[in-house]
Amino acid sequence: MSAFPERLVLLGHPLGHSLSPVFQNAALKAADIPLTYELVDVPRSALPDAIGSLRRSRAAGNVTIPHKEAILAACDRLSATAKAVGAVNTFWIAVDGALVGDNTDVGGFRAALAKLLGAPRPNEVVALFGAGGAAAAVLHAMEGWQNPRVHVYSRTQRRAEDLMRRFRVPGEVSRSAEDAVEGATLVVNATPVGLRDDTVPVSAHALPKSCAVLDLAYRPGETALVRDARARGHAAMDGLTMLVEQGALAFEQWFGVAPDRDVMWKAVTQRR
Ligand code: NAP
Repeated sequence: MSAFPERLVLLGHPLGHSLSPVFQNAALKAADIPLTYELVDVPRSALPDAIGSLRRSRAAGNVTIPHKEAILAACDRLSATAKAVGAVNTFWIAVDGALVGDNTDVGGFRAALAKLLGAPRPNEVVALFGAGGAAAAVLHAMEGWQNPRVHVYSRTQRRAEDLMRRFRVPGEVSRSAEDAVEGATLVVNATPVGLRDDTVPVSAHALPKSCAVLDLAYRPGETALVRDARARGHAAMDGLTMLVEQGALAFEQWFGVAPDRDVMWKAVTQRR
């Protein structure tokens, strides 16, 4: 169980684009919790000192790029999900003083997919772009699906091969983005491609008819992949739903109560 946090932070580097304070602070206000969710920009070399100071101040919070793997190694206890994914995006100090790490990206992905498709369908064939922490969260979620298959495409092929070995999801490593989408019923972008500009991980022209698209990236006006796919008649969604949901699940871990998700969503869409 989490001790009541004395500080709430997002640890990462760089942090300029983060929307997390917008919806977390709205949820804190709605729940009458007298804390402010702060951005703590920490370069890799300063992470050990930052973790020491967070322990002393009984902080809780989220972790983003590039610290999700490094903080896992510093945790005294891990949730089963964080262990399976190999990355921590949520932490807190337990009542016994232990630093506990969890991964709510998996639950965030599940919630976003439920909003997009209702539920994962049997025999889903996923074209998964990327082989980092977010791709690992997607594969862990897929382990619970009925007869799924995955085609992983990553610009660094070795990382895709290593990732495939870690999860019980049948499939293959694809040689190109176009190969990966062949026969796919769902395309998931777990790379930063499209986060800052209108680049796309794959052209919407290559998408099989009626395949859905879930882009974990998000930006004002949605990503080009989502816009292009929707224009061609595909069901498509960006990463904003996943972002808010992973934050809502983290809030539940820190405070033992559910946040007002409508308040979070309203705050974030007003800033979109
Ligand atoms: P990560 O661990 O750093 O992994 C990034 C992956 O993307 C790696 O496979 C990397 O390939 C690949 N990549 C990076 N730049 C690329 C480029 N220019 N072209 C092609 N591939 C590229 O990061 P992560 O934590 O998995 O996050 C990945 C993305 O998911 C980010 O955009 C993040 O914003 C998004 N995300 C969203 C949510 C949400 O709540 N919506 C949650 C988590 C992550 P290499 O190995 O070759 O570098």
